[in-house]
Amino acid sequence: TADLDLVAGLLRDVPDFPTPGIRFWDLSAMLADGPGLAATTRLLAAATAEPPDVVVGIEARGFLLGAAVAHSLGLGVVAVRKQGKLPVVAASRSYDLEYGSATLELPAGVIRPGARALLVDDVLATGGTAAAACALVEGAGAAVAAVSVVLELPTLEGRARLGEHPVHALLTR
Ligand code: IMP
Repeated sequence: TADLDLVAGLLRDVPDFPTPGIRFWDLSAMLADGPGLAATTRLLAAATAEPPDVVVGIEARGFLLGAAVAHSLGLGVVAVRKQGKLPVVAASRSYDLEYGSATLELPAGVIRPGARALLVDDVLATGGTAAAACALVEGAGAAVAAVSVVLELPTLEGRARLGEHPVHALLTR
C-alpha cells in the first residue's frame, strides 16, 4: 500500500550501534515526518479487527507511537515503564538481555480487568521486552488483543517468544 511504502522509505539502518556488529533500525525520520507518522499510526491501529479498549505503549518509542495510536482510536494509553520511573506500581517483570537483565513496570490502577489491550512498540527483536509487557498486562487481568510493531527482525525469533499472542508487524527486515 501507499502507507506502507511511505513508512518503509523513512526507516534507516545504522551499522555498529549501540555496539560493533549490531545493526540498529532508526525510526527518527519517520517519527519526524507528518505523513509518515500518520501512515504508521493508521497501520499500527489496524492490528485488530475488533477495536481494543486501551493501548499500552512500551518505553520509550512505544510511548510516541502508542499515544498516536490511542488518540487515533479515541482510546487512552498506558505507559509500561523501565524500573524506577513509576511512583505506584501494579507489578514488575524482569527479562534477560544479551548481557544482564531489564525490568518493566505497569502503573497501578489504570488497566481495567477484562480490558483488551493493544501493545505498541517500534521494533520486535528477541521479543523479551514485548513478552514482559504482555505478562504485566495479563497479570492485571486484562487480555492482549495484539502486539503491534513497526518493524520485526525475524532472525531473532521474537514471535516465538510471544507464544500465542498475535503479532502485527508492518515490516520485516
Ligand atoms: P527485544 O526485547 O529484543 O525484542 O528488543 C525490543 C526492544 O528493544 C524494543 O523496545 C525496541 O525499542 C528496542 N530495539 C531493539 N532493536 C532495535 C532496533 O534495531 N532499533 C530500535 N529499537 C530497537
